[in-house]
Amino acid sequence: MKDMLNLQEAARAAAQALLPKAGLNKQREISRLIFEICKRDDTAPADISARINAKNFEQAKKELLALRYPISFKTAKRENFYLPKLDLQALPDAEIKREEFYPKNIFIEKEVLNSPLAQRALKLFPKAKTEILEKKTFCGSENYSKRKENLVIIKENFDFVKPCPCTKNCFCCGYNLVNLGFGCAYECSYCFLQQYQNLHAIVLPANIKDFLDKIEKTPLRKGPFPHIRIGSGEFTDSLLFDHITNYSFDIVDFFRGREEYFEFKTKSTNIDNLLKIPAAKNIVVGWSVNPQNVIDDAEALTTPLHARLAAAAKIAAHGYKTAFHFDPVIIHEGWRANYLSVIEKIKNTVPAESIAWISIGTLRFSRELKKCIESRFKSNTILDGEFLLDFDGKMRYPKVLRKQVYETLAPALKKAFPGTYVYLCMEEPDLQI
Ligand code: SF4
Repeated sequence: MKDMLNLQEAARAAAQALLPKAGLNKQREISRLIFEICKRDDTAPADISARINAKNFEQAKKELLALRYPISFKTAKRENFYLPKLDLQALPDAEIKREEFYPKNIFIEKEVLNSPLAQRALKLFPKAKTEILEKKTFCGSENYSKRKENLVIIKENFDFVKPCPCTKNCFCCGYNLVNLGFGCAYECSYCFLQQYQNLHAIVLPANIKDFLDKIEKTPLRKGPFPHIRIGSGEFTDSLLFDHITNYSFDIVDFFRGREEYFEFKTKSTNIDNLLKIPAAKNIVVGWSVNPQNVIDDAEALTTPLHARLAAAAKIAAHGYKTAFHFDPVIIHEGWRANYLSVIEKIKNTVPAESIAWISIGTLRFSRELKKCIESRFKSNTILDGEFLLDFDGKMRYPKVLRKQVYETLAPALKKAFPGTYVYLCMEEPDLQI
């Protein structure tokens, strides 16, 4: 793999040599295209510019777009190609260190100092520097990669439960979200939190009972499922910190015997608490799954696929429900065989009757996240795919490729797990399966 900073410079130089009279914005677009082609194909910028015959900007851009977007070039509108300024030095690199979560600092809001969560955190991390906050005055690290140094224990007053915001013009699966925590210790290169989270810390609410109280009083949305579904895990991994929070005890206790299904969404194997208590049939543990090569490339610090499936088998044997989320599906060489093999592995490890639902969603992200990913994960391969600004303003694979993914995975899942609800997440209604 090339050194990306050198490649960035070489791409800028090649653009300058190709179109010396072009203005700054035009140079930026050309250098980005050259950079992205060279990164994907492992070629030199000089080789790419040597293949360009055009001498003016419009023609050169057209030739480069055809090289960069071979599938969508002829059909996509010009405004759907997103070519921001190349700036790989905008953010510090992601820090990929596999180590147990142990914050350097614990900030506790005064109101929840005596809460079980705050007291447990103080016991679990005796070497951490502790600060009691009179008001909400904490601020996290400037660097997102340092977020794990700061644990903040708060009393949540507003953001308890809400319908999943989904995305404009998408088929809605009717999910409800409860925001139990903000911040994650994993380093998935596609994670939206790296661009979205402005407080660089792990934030955990101490007033779990208030959340459950709110759930009791809030009319929850019902989608196409036979049951109302609610889950945590939008702004953090639902189980990663469960040995600290013990949320699962209260959640299982609250939902036992109720009609709604509650889902913990995770990439962890932190299921010990759940195994300590009697299971409930309406508690679902949902694992996000990907082939191991994608986990190695794009889900740093998470658990391997075989460990997720082994944990799912234990959860099922204990009497809970399981779920699987093929999300985000990342298109890569050999993706069909690799994803079909994940389906086979689930089938061979987890009892089909335990699986409450399975979702599929291809990789999508905001345009701002693209710049963040390429700066924090300079050698990423996920951005080498063809992504265009799509119907909801997000960057997505061309529809023709997304369709191929759904037409491959959905029938295979329905065949392997007949009777399990399989659905697409955040996708256009006409692609629904
Ligand atoms: S597990 Fe989820 S929340 Fe955590 S880094 Fe990965 S994508 Fe983000």
